Amino acid sequence: MIRFTALQSVNQAKAVDVKISSNLAEKFGKYVFSNEKLEKYVGKEAYKKILSAIKDGNMISDDVADQVAAAMRNWALENGATHYTHWFQPLTGLTAEKHDSFLDLTSGSPIEKFSGGSLIQQEPDASSFPNGGIRQTFEARGYTAWDPSSPAFLMKSGGGLTLCIPTIFISYTGEALDYKAPLLKTLHQLEKAAVEVCQYFDPNVKSATATLGIEQEYFLVDAGLYNARPDLAISQRTILGHSPARGQQLDDHYFGSIPERIQAFMIDFENESIQLGIPLKTRHNEVAPSQFECAPTFEDVNLAVDHNQLLMDVIDKVARRHNLRAILHEKPFANVNGSGKHCNFSMSTNTGVNLLSPGKTPTKNLQFLAFFVSVIKAVSNHANLLRASIASAGNDHRLGANEAPPAIISVFIGTQLTQVLNSLSSNNLDAYTDNDQETINIAAPQIPKISRDNTDRNRTSPFAFTGNKFEFRAVGSSTNTSAPMTVLAAAVAQQLQQLKIDVDHKIENGFDTNTAVLTVLQQYLQESKSILFEGNNYSEEWAQEAARRGLSNIRTTPQALDAYISDSTLKLFGDLGIMNERELHARYEILLENYTLKIQIESRLLGELAMTHIIPAANRYLNELVDTLVKVKNTGIDVDTSSIEHSIKDITNHISVISKKVREMIESRKKANNLNSAQETAIAYCNEVKPHFEDIRYHADKLELLVDDNMWQLPKYRELLFLR
Ligand code: ADP
Ligand code: MG
Repeated sequence: MIRFTALQSVNQAKAVDVKISSNLAEKFGKYVFSNEKLEKYVGKEAYKKILSAIKDGNMISDDVADQVAAAMRNWALENGATHYTHWFQPLTGLTAEKHDSFLDLTSGSPIEKFSGGSLIQQEPDASSFPNGGIRQTFEARGYTAWDPSSPAFLMKSGGGLTLCIPTIFISYTGEALDYKAPLLKTLHQLEKAAVEVCQYFDPNVKSATATLGIEQEYFLVDAGLYNARPDLAISQRTILGHSPARGQQLDDHYFGSIPERIQAFMIDFENESIQLGIPLKTRHNEVAPSQFECAPTFEDVNLAVDHNQLLMDVIDKVARRHNLRAILHEKPFANVNGSGKHCNFSMSTNTGVNLLSPGKTPTKNLQFLAFFVSVIKAVSNHANLLRASIASAGNDHRLGANEAPPAIISVFIGTQLTQVLNSLSSNNLDAYTDNDQETINIAAPQIPKISRDNTDRNRTSPFAFTGNKFEFRAVGSSTNTSAPMTVLAAAVAQQLQQLKIDVDHKIENGFDTNTAVLTVLQQYLQESKSILFEGNNYSEEWAQEAARRGLSNIRTTPQALDAYISDSTLKLFGDLGIMNERELHARYEILLENYTLKIQIESRLLGELAMTHIIPAANRYLNELVDTLVKVKNTGIDVDTSSIEHSIKDITNHISVISKKVREMIESRKKANNLNSAQETAIAYCNEVKPHFEDIRYHADKLELLVDDNMWQLPKYRELLFLR
């Protein structure tokens, strides 16, 4: 039986030998075509021209493109690459590639060719990517276009090296078919709005970038055991399986010692990431058994997003090399903590100021408060859209379970800043005093004092301020962070634009700048204070309190996605010129279809596993029990056979409930498939099909406890989670 073969090989598994890379600094970015390399290949003069063309966002001339392409090709060939690809992020949530060879045979003799044209634009056979009706499949025209703000890199695949060029993916008519195009547009708008607001405080600010540090959680499971679980292999989560006797109670995994096999994987994985320019910094075990986390140093949002997509690929590839499988699903195991992807967000200026870090001077502090309050207000304005941006079938299992932020979006800011905001909104700023040594003393009386070190932590909040950044914690581990970052950045950009309008208006009415800003912030706080929550987000009281405050608690994806086409969302993205109604509707449809597809796959798998794995094993054991019972009775000895009889009854009962429920589930699937719209179908899958999962699982898991272990085909939780 595959389970036992797998268990045997786990016992013999050894750590894969990896070369320890001692000099990480030297290796950093080895496979990245950085600006320094570009300069080296094209020379100083050309480099300057290229940079300014890219920076101003001008059309790149054919001439410039050819120079960059030639430089990239030479560098790639020197490193042993044979192919190139445009690397993009379609709405499947994964990354996509289409590899072309550098080798060109059309010109008579074979040469290695890569023109500026191939760098800037490609037309992948894109009919198979979701487009939500924007691009009919018969006019399979979508374009990938070079994104010069994210450097090209070399990716190892199948023993070869491929030059990957980050691109956006748009339709023939210029509409976004991917996650990156809206993100880039949004970041541009955010920068503009932020720079304008900074002018009130410091005219030297010429540019501002949004920064993002992404913490990634994942599970590692032995590859053999993983493959013996069709549910894991196909849907990345166990749809069956009884909780282990030894659960998470001991909590001894967190920061625990990392076993040798895993250690070897990590060294390898970090080495590969570092070479790709991903600035990985921390690694540790997470709360759940076999769960791990890594976090790179923060970068510009665009780059951080690309690096996280790449990182997920690398985790997967390297894990396979170590006979492990990485699981990025939000909830692979029932009753065990799920995986998130904390997105740490801030903004910083060309003058080196973190706009979400309390400042050293009064004006800097007012600037901090302006951005701080704007983010809070932005979250309050678009809480439902933020919820939508992280909605997925996988994350539905996690949000609202007792270990992850709830589906209620709220903001945590800590005691001290709560005091600051209270005094700000009560217009009684002098009342706020703090005898903390770290407090920055401020001359101007109307601006509150803020201590530099805010160490408050609240791990239960979906959106928490952590001293110099906000941490969006409700994001799921498999999410493409472009989506939540586009929403967050757009919401903040819109709010900063509004702040500028409101403050200017006050100044026109005779307010000095500081007072104008403070007055506007007071108003914003008044309007958004219901989003602030400092208590335990896991508690039932909070759910009730949130309802009283009128905050949404949207538990399922089909419901959450509605926010993508709400009036306030259409206005947000429309006004900022990021996405039009058609694009948002397309996105909405695609996300609904993704959801339906996931639940459909899980439902089919569950039906199949129940009928072909669980019930046959139970029947085999049942046979044995019946045999035994008959034999015992035949001996004529007067013994108590009630325990065997009980088992027979129990098992028979579970089997018949399972097969009945599976039939019902199939019926509800048929009905769902026949509905007219993507929305109705998704809702039916959520409300009619999915509820069968729990029922079937309940009885199957009971059987797992009754049936002879030797007959059980699927690796059990204790084997998946605790084997080293
Ligand atoms: P935690 O307490 O959540 O583990 P860490 O201090 O380890 O937080 O940082 C988590 C992430 O936050 C890291 O990726 C880090 O680079 C990132 N981070 C730190 N400062 C900023 C910033 N100014 N902007 C964006 N991300 C940041
Ligand atoms: Mg964190």
